[in-house]
Amino acid sequence: MKNNLDLKHKMKITEILEKDRPTFSFEFFPPKTEEGLASLYKTIAELEKINPSFISITYGAMGSTRKKTLELIEKIKKSLKCEIMAHLTCIGATAEEISSIVLKLKKLNISNILALRGDIPDDYPEKDKVKKDFMYASDLVRFIRNLNDFCIGVAGYPECHRDCTDINTDISYLAEKIEAGAEFVITQLFFHNEYYNSFVEKIRGKGIKNPVIPGILPITGYHQISKIQKMCGCSIHNNIKTELEKFKDDPVSIRNFGVDYATEQCSELLEQGAPGIHFYTFNKSEATRKIWENLSKK
Ligand code: FAD
Repeated sequence: MKNNLDLKHKMKITEILEKDRPTFSFEFFPPKTEEGLASLYKTIAELEKINPSFISITYGAMGSTRKKTLELIEKIKKSLKCEIMAHLTCIGATAEEISSIVLKLKKLNISNILALRGDIPDDYPEKDKVKKDFMYASDLVRFIRNLNDFCIGVAGYPECHRDCTDINTDISYLAEKIEAGAEFVITQLFFHNEYYNSFVEKIRGKGIKNPVIPGILPITGYHQISKIQKMCGCSIHNNIKTELEKFKDDPVSIRNFGVDYATEQCSELLEQGAPGIHFYTFNKSEATRKIWENLSKK
């Protein structure tokens, strides 16, 4: 399996997707503490040995960790060989604020942005929804496209976004993001490939040809799963639930199961033509590294 990029120059993810499929990318979030930051540096150093196609750094919606995203990118940019994709959310932001962040990203030599709306907090005032400059991710995509020559990715939801009642409608909004200038899609995590397959089929049916990178989360704990399900609204079928119940009090077996399950999931996705895998690492390296090693042996 080929995954041996040594990128010293700015490269767009669309170019990487053309030249070096399958891509392997890792998502990290900016830690809140110095201890968390030190641990993240170790994780990144471990995963860099795999030669990732790119890594991505999340961005807190509504101001929670905004500054930290740019600071983290600035800190790791110099020492990393691979490309960094910056996530950017627009909910609650003004055009001026977004312009300034995009300019900073450009100065940091970042060429790839994942353009997102961000979750709307329950207490977000109704009036602010109309007062602000951005309602949806498509507004942000259009805005960035007009500012600079970034390579723009967007989020896709194989099991439908939770604010939307119907997958076909949700996909029509995804089509709007592509029309606005987005070039690739990274999906919300899912544990059952049939959701990704049917999502891609529906997207292709709409004439969208852009790469759709599946987002995969290795299961690492019994309690992790219910939290994730609540947060992302993804389905967990009985085949997973039964195994988790079986190993409820045995964290090592749960982690092993998680690695084996994700290996099979990724292997099938790649065999069926997925352009790469985007790993939700939760700032940990062990499971992702093992899955990558398993896939390399196949
Ligand atoms: P949108 O595409 O704007 O969609 C949001 C909702 O509005 C959907 O229900 C959609 O159907 C609907 N909609 C879209 N356009 C229209 C329209 N024109 N009219 C009516 N309805 C419409 N969150 C963070 O805070 N920080 C991150 O770093 C982050 N990274 C992520 C990475 C990935 C790969 C994914 C999948 C999600 C990420 N998220 C992140 C979560 C994301 O911000 C939330 O899921 C958010 O609620 C929706 O963002 P979006 O960009 O998909 O929004």
